[in-house]
Amino acid sequence: MEVDVLSLDQLDKIAPVFGQQSFNDHEQIVFCNDPDTGLKAIIGIHNTVLGPALGGTRMWNYATEWDALNDVLRLSRGMSFKSAITGLNLGGGKAVIIGDAKTQKTPELMKRFGEFVHSLSGKYITAEDVGMETADMDLVRTVTPYVTGISEDKGGAGNPSPITAYGVFMGMKAAAQYAYGSDNLEGKKVLVQGIGHVGEVLVEHITNEGGEVYISDINQQRLESVRDSYGAKIFTGENVYAADVDIYAPCALGATINDNTINALKAKVIAGAANNQLADENLHGHMLQERGIVYAPDFLINAGGIINVYAELENYDKQEIIRKTENIFDTTLEILSMAETEGITSHQAALKIAVERIENRKNSQS
Ligand code: NAD
Repeated sequence: MEVDVLSLDQLDKIAPVFGQQSFNDHEQIVFCNDPDTGLKAIIGIHNTVLGPALGGTRMWNYATEWDALNDVLRLSRGMSFKSAITGLNLGGGKAVIIGDAKTQKTPELMKRFGEFVHSLSGKYITAEDVGMETADMDLVRTVTPYVTGISEDKGGAGNPSPITAYGVFMGMKAAAQYAYGSDNLEGKKVLVQGIGHVGEVLVEHITNEGGEVYISDINQQRLESVRDSYGAKIFTGENVYAADVDIYAPCALGATINDNTINALKAKVIAGAANNQLADENLHGHMLQERGIVYAPDFLINAGGIINVYAELENYDKQEIIRKTENIFDTTLEILSMAETEGITSHQAALKIAVERIENRKNSQS
């Protein structure tokens, strides 16, 4: 295949650096490269007005490096708003490591990544995300203090996923109350897409309340194990988005609410853990609103994990973590009412509150 070599001028026209898709006034982007360990990572720092940029590290086999950049830009921006709406004094950041977590993650690579995090002197604090385990954060901790989500026996708050799942459950119940007049999930059919660290615990909460859970995942072994543990049903239909359920819980990756899926949805409520569920937050937010689907904003209801890791920085206990996470129920209801009153989407309402908090702090500092 013949490839034309583009001049910098031509390249800038098709792929301007600061004009990247998803670039949204980010403060700093750091590209980390280490040929010895094979590390290729990008750290995105979106905003540090409220505090240091805290957000997890995702390891994923991205199709292209542009996909990785786009992901870190979207994710780090989401973290700014997540911490802001949750009332935490944290900014928004995120990191992505390009590669297959199953085959390319080594202790050397994780430590090298930790050294890059350390070089930012605390402006970015990392944590777990997809493809990471608590043990990886423990490795990062050997080279930098700027990491959360480390093991409880090493003084950390441990795996944040169960708390994330509890927060999503709170948001789901609030959205169910809004849509169906009761927060009780007994008898409700819920489809959980992605039954990993968060999805599995969410399945447990819903099942305990008497909900009928359908599960979908690309990992057959996990499907069978979660089915056997909680009596969930494996979704076997052709189109998971067209499943005949009351609630759809996206708990795998983002952007599953898009042009190709939105019209198929039968669920009247969307409440899940995945970040950036709306492929286009304005367009798809409006489409959901028009279809009368109650959408619990992702960055609001999946904040349990960040509440959990924030405890490591602020030294508050498990009870306080649970209390703050349970607040997600009330905040979700407030946001859904505000959206209806103001005639805006629930995503826009949540964003408005988050942006206001950041702006107020910025103004009070200047
Ligand atoms: P995980 O990697 O443990 O689980 C993800 C699951 O999704 C895996 O079982 C995987 O096989 C499955 N999956 C991947 N692609 C899929 C597809 N196309 N269809 C169906 N299943 C698919 O991740 P996690 O920690 O459970 O996080 C889930 C989501 O929640 C992610 O988007 C993450 O960013 C978000 N989130 C997690 C936390 C946390 O505390 N872990 C906090 C906030 C947000």
